[in-house]
Amino acid sequence: MKSLEDIYRDAGAYLEGHFLLSSGKHSQFYLQSAKVLENPKTAELLAEKLAKMIKDSGLKVDTVCSPALGGILAGYELARALDARFIFTERVDKVMTLRRGFEVSEGENILICEDIITTGGSALEAARAVEMSGANITAYAALANRGLCQRQGSISEAKSECKLPKNIPFFALDDFIFEIYDAENCPLCVDGSKAYKPGSRGN
Ligand code: ZN
Repeated sequence: MKSLEDIYRDAGAYLEGHFLLSSGKHSQFYLQSAKVLENPKTAELLAEKLAKMIKDSGLKVDTVCSPALGGILAGYELARALDARFIFTERVDKVMTLRRGFEVSEGENILICEDIITTGGSALEAARAVEMSGANITAYAALANRGLCQRQGSISEAKSECKLPKNIPFFALDDFIFEIYDAENCPLCVDGSKAYKPGSRGN
């Protein structure tokens, strides 16, 4: 099977430019997972690989929950591969919330799935939303880790920016490690270009 990086590159999902990430940081690269997941067969293959890692760990997962919008496709496919239920959270007045009649029971084992984990901020917000209904967060998962958090089996350690709790396992297929900058000391800004949100220019 191709490497995850090759899958992203071949799908035109490994973008180069000057990006404003949802964390507020700047980067020369951006991973547009939607371009990879537009092919359902690829999504299925990636999710099956991720599901195998999770099953092999022996974790019990009743439900996969993703923060909208980015995590939904990956989470849905992962839920299928794990034979689990799937729900998603979305922001209402900036607060991550369960809507649409989704219910969570006391003690339900929930895995939070994103497409990419950078700081894990949105994943953590989704976790908080379902924990309020009594759920038990068993793991976090993503197709790829941007290198700030430590995924299971990787030697690269979590950085201080990682918001995921250290005592809960985080599964990802691979690390995509590239520099991200604070807006104040971004070399791309120094060169005179302006950071833009991925998606705002047709990407
Ligand atoms: Zn910049």
